[in-house]
Amino acid sequence: MTEHQPQPEPGFRDSVDMMFNRAVTLMDLSPGLEEKIRVCNATYTVRFGVRLRGQLHTFTGYRSVHSEHMEPVKGGIRYAPSVHQEEVEALAALMTYKCALVEVPYGGSKGGLRIDPRDWDEHELEQITRRFAYELAKRDLISPSQNVPAPDMGTGEREMAWIADQYARMNTTDINSRACVTGKPLNAGGIHGRVEATGRGVQYALREFFRHPEDVAKAGLSGKLEGKRIIVQGLGNVGYHAAKFLSEEDGAKITAIIERDGAITDENGLDVEAVYQWIAKHGGVSDFPHATHHEDGAKLLEAECDILIPAALESTINLSNAERISAPLIIEAANGPVTAGADEILRDKGCVIIPDMYANAGGVTVSYFEWVKNLSHIRFGRMERRADEARAQLIVDELERLSADEGLGWSLSKNFKERYLKGDDELELVRSGLDDTMRTAYQAMREIWHNRDDVPDLRTAAYLVAIGRVALSYRSKGL
Ligand code: GLU
Repeated sequence: MTEHQPQPEPGFRDSVDMMFNRAVTLMDLSPGLEEKIRVCNATYTVRFGVRLRGQLHTFTGYRSVHSEHMEPVKGGIRYAPSVHQEEVEALAALMTYKCALVEVPYGGSKGGLRIDPRDWDEHELEQITRRFAYELAKRDLISPSQNVPAPDMGTGEREMAWIADQYARMNTTDINSRACVTGKPLNAGGIHGRVEATGRGVQYALREFFRHPEDVAKAGLSGKLEGKRIIVQGLGNVGYHAAKFLSEEDGAKITAIIERDGAITDENGLDVEAVYQWIAKHGGVSDFPHATHHEDGAKLLEAECDILIPAALESTINLSNAERISAPLIIEAANGPVTAGADEILRDKGCVIIPDMYANAGGVTVSYFEWVKNLSHIRFGRMERRADEARAQLIVDELERLSADEGLGWSLSKNFKERYLKGDDELELVRSGLDDTMRTAYQAMREIWHNRDDVPDLRTAAYLVAIGRVALSYRSKGL
């Protein structure tokens, strides 16, 4: 191997551990506690058979519990052919740090099923999901008080509804059974705003970043979010919502979208909704009209822009391409899109990275609201509005009048009036709770990033905040 060839990269879990280790060298933890926090407590592997298409098929699934310093533990279930134990463990570890950083009272967990959901029809997927849920639930790896899954790549509301129903069938007397999983459809105990939550969180994170000119300058940028050129990798649930909100509400331009089958670009900004609808219908971006096409999608990660949003798989920015990445600001909508090695290269180049454990925490934050709603058995929102329509109108009028006063420095979100009067103000409550969470967590990271000379970046700062909180909770347990 010559000097110029890239070094082999450690796997995803080692990469997360390396970032963890870098942070703990700056902390004063006992080596015993350090190891206790770093390692995954347990990973359960299950192989189960389902008779489909006249034949018995065996599936492999995992549920990993990283840290039980708080219970229940929380994290999504991923369906992908590439799922493996190390990946699930790395993702579970990130859940621990993510929850600690945004102060949702959970330990970290993650699940995965090695399956390509596109290989199976809906009825088959239901049978597979129910069987997987049964295997996990009978070992307390799905339970409102012990372990609460949620959607992740390849799963969504539909799968969560099947899981909730399966759990309820197995626990007919559990009044809290709905809280066994989050990300459910509204009619099955879900909450407004959960589907958009992770993408919405990415938007709120960027808004908060751009509220601090000093931080914007660290990335070599200036001004507002408006007009910034953004490249998005992956138009799944997270990438789609982030790109849609940033372009439609903040005036940013989505200049490139990278998908499995290539990339499309338009310097004037792509119509995210149109691209999303096109993908839903045609399965990819290949023939999308009114855009320039690029066969080599990955190459577009290196293209010039102001902000790069990797919103697909882990490790897409690695030792093989980090040097050529030109974005001055990266916000990690995916979990682990930048490897530990690439992270260092990018930092040396002056690139600012808003780390995954913060950037994509919107999903689990709103999951927490859903779980609390399920356990409290009441509908979120202000009830009096229904009883008094006229008073509601007065409140809205007054709020509109106040928000029109520029000097006050705030404004009503789009469609507020419509939503408030219609009665789904739960969405307003969820969004403002999420916004608040994203602002507070950013400020906690930022303070350390700015005030400590030995903390070189936001990721290290995020780890310091998160590990500090986990350590505190272990200590208070007497460990
Ligand atoms: N899968 C999401 C994540 O990686 C959401 C987890 C949850 O809501 O529990 O954060």
